[in-house]
Amino acid sequence: MLTQLPKIREIQIYQHDLPVKNGPYTMAKAQVWALDSTLVRMIAEDGTEGWGEVCPVGPTYAEAHAAGARAALAEVIPGIIGTQPWPILLHRAMNARLNGHYYAKAALDIAAHDLLGKLLNLRVSDLLGGTLTERIPSYYATGVGEPDEIARLAREKQQEGYPRLQIKVGGRAVEIDIETVRKVWEQVRGSGIKLTVDGNRGWCTRDALRMSRECGDIPFIMEQPCNSIDELRQIRGQITHPIYMDENSLDLSTVIHAVGTGLVDGFGMKVTRIGGLHPMRAFRDICDARSVPHTSDDSWGGDIIAAACAHAAATVRPELNEGAWIAAPYIDHHYDASGGIEIVQGHIQLPEGPGLGLTINPEQFGQPVAVFD
Ligand SMILES: [Mg+2]
Repeated sequence: MLTQLPKIREIQIYQHDLPVKNGPYTMAKAQVWALDSTLVRMIAEDGTEGWGEVCPVGPTYAEAHAAGARAALAEVIPGIIGTQPWPILLHRAMNARLNGHYYAKAALDIAAHDLLGKLLNLRVSDLLGGTLTERIPSYYATGVGEPDEIARLAREKQQEGYPRLQIKVGGRAVEIDIETVRKVWEQVRGSGIKLTVDGNRGWCTRDALRMSRECGDIPFIMEQPCNSIDELRQIRGQITHPIYMDENSLDLSTVIHAVGTGLVDGFGMKVTRIGGLHPMRAFRDICDARSVPHTSDDSWGGDIIAAACAHAAATVRPELNEGAWIAAPYIDHHYDASGGIEIVQGHIQLPEGPGLGLTINPEQFGQPVAVFD
């Protein structure tokens, strides 16, 4: 007999602004002053509720934007009212209403996992296969900045206990990027901290090749240096640094191709870009099968996204776990009544309690922008 769960009775959508602390945050192709986040409250027939979130970093970081997320949700949600919150049933129902738009569907996927966990009295990490750690490694991403300032920040974050550091580069002369990486290395050399240089698609192949040649003695990972998969393939055989794919890994099909052909050595993976926790689980297992390291995080968002990332990262084989970046150090606000998800000494404590482990009062978000029942 099929296991029956209370069906999804009602879904509310909220809009919420998350201001950036000491803004803007600068990347190769985007400046961020505030984030326009979209929250989803999923209520089951028995009154149990789950929360989801999607928060694009402005309209140019990825092929995603906040108004698009809300439009896609309005398209999809009528098809999932009355569905049980099993992830497989949910994704079938969502895909029957709308092709693609994984980032928007991710908000519903995260809400369904939170709801399912509460209904079954399990943490989301346990729903994803089992929890390997309660203390998730995080990493600090510097933003694009002056070489001396970034080097100072790198030292500070290494001393705080971060196991990994990501230096943002691109959108300026590559000589300044090279100087930045060299100065950071002078500060953290010998500390054991892992180093990633993230171009956020901002370099041409010429600049990526030059960075690798001129910093051949520095053991960093080069993350998404150029805009397209073809450009990654073009530099792949010419540089000695490992290459990770981030923005180009838009779906599982791309991941399978990249892993299967050895195009990259790892991934920066975003929970919402890939479509939520259910596809994230498949992504994790594809990487595990080929021993490919990866992050389990997202591009900004509040406590809900941070908790989803922490639960996903808690299930990754430790030697492949590149950690979870969360926006908490860069924003001034928590949704969770008891303080929310924070980074302490470079690590995130996995929340207790069923589902995502958050307590969220909807009143803080004002009136919903849409209600479906
Ligand atoms: Mg990245």
